[in-house]
Amino acid sequence: MPKLFGTFGVRGLANQDLTPEAAYRLGLAYATHLGGKGKIAIGHDNRTSSEMFESAMAAGLLAGGCNVLRLYLTPTPVLSFATKNFGCDGGVMITASHNPAEYNGIKLWAEDGAGLERECEREIEAIFEKGGEQVEWFETGKTTKMDAIGPYVRAILERAPRFKRKLRVVVDCANAMGSLVTPQILRELGCSVLSMNSNLDGTFPGRKLEPVPENLGELSKTVVACKADVGIAHDGDADRTIMVNEKGEILSGDRVFAFAAMRYLKGKKSPRVITTVATSMVIEDMAKKLGWSVVRGKVGEPEIVGIFKKSGGDIGGEENGGVLFFDWLPCREGMMTAIQFLAAVDESGGTVSELDATLPKYYQFKQRAKCPNEMKEKVLEILAGAFSDYRVDRTDGIRVVFDADWLLLRPSGTEPIFRCFAEAKTSKRAEDLVGLGMKELEKAIKKASAPS
Ligand code: MG
Repeated sequence: MPKLFGTFGVRGLANQDLTPEAAYRLGLAYATHLGGKGKIAIGHDNRTSSEMFESAMAAGLLAGGCNVLRLYLTPTPVLSFATKNFGCDGGVMITASHNPAEYNGIKLWAEDGAGLERECEREIEAIFEKGGEQVEWFETGKTTKMDAIGPYVRAILERAPRFKRKLRVVVDCANAMGSLVTPQILRELGCSVLSMNSNLDGTFPGRKLEPVPENLGELSKTVVACKADVGIAHDGDADRTIMVNEKGEILSGDRVFAFAAMRYLKGKKSPRVITTVATSMVIEDMAKKLGWSVVRGKVGEPEIVGIFKKSGGDIGGEENGGVLFFDWLPCREGMMTAIQFLAAVDESGGTVSELDATLPKYYQFKQRAKCPNEMKEKVLEILAGAFSDYRVDRTDGIRVVFDADWLLLRPSGTEPIFRCFAEAKTSKRAEDLVGLGMKELEKAIKKASAPS
């Protein structure tokens, strides 16, 4: 039996790996875990299968005795906002984030608006296996319907700095959840907004949902053609944001994170920034300039939230354009990322590319190798031996640290692959580092698969 929860919730092909029966059982298990009482907020994205999973999940929660606050179409940060601010005991988001249209997923949330901790997920998994408890007919839960988007937009606007310039912005929401909030929020802040792919369509005809360079060609062209100051792209559930400069060049997620943090942390006393071993050195460059302390943990939003809960922090971020603003919400927040980044551009008085040029340029290069899940630990140990003469950080995988660059070898948490990732000051050096990493990785995989 495969594990129910992956690195971030339950994911699978709709009506194949992930069925409405499973969603019902998961709802019932969550309700049982909560003692058959409490109020759970539930929201969903606009995938064609999302209403089906929302209904099944809600039925499971009600059958287990929980009351349900149904929010219907919501970006993930809005679900987090509602769970935290409307007196809920937990939350559920139906989305597969950046995965293609045929996938869906279920993510459980805690009452503070953060993703449910691993331990709780394991407990619910155990109840799911046994089967949760349906309550008596007179104890089943009640449903309340509400719009969380209006209160969310008002609250985020209250916290947003006012812009001095009228920035011309192209927003690409991938026909998904950002469409319901981002164009409106930016107009309210005085931007001139051109939106593309911003009508909801659960087949996502405009572009693939992951905001990575290969999917953002149209946005780049549109920014240049419309002489816009900046382009903004979200993933499917609008918890991640990537920016395009006025020349149509795409900024990496770490740079978006660095500038959003620069604006957000302004005036905060000795701010603490949480990031991962896979994030660019621009975070340290910015930290040196502005007096931040930086903590690097394992890759993934749950890991960042875990560090925040254990030892505090002001902001967290990843290289994929997911940024967390802890005194606002303990989850990745695509809209707040856009606001803070635009505020940084506004205050700089110049263009996005001029602002971007204030940080050193780095080159990143990535490759991957197939590796069966059961072999990953052994491969890591062999790699540790191979790099024993180097300075190595073993927070997550193996990060080989050189004076001015680094190489990361890390097993994927979701797929049977190993990733090899390097960052350096020239593209040649980044490629050479990945070459070195891949050579050792292939040797290690071969050695691990040899009969002992
Ligand atoms: Mg997402």
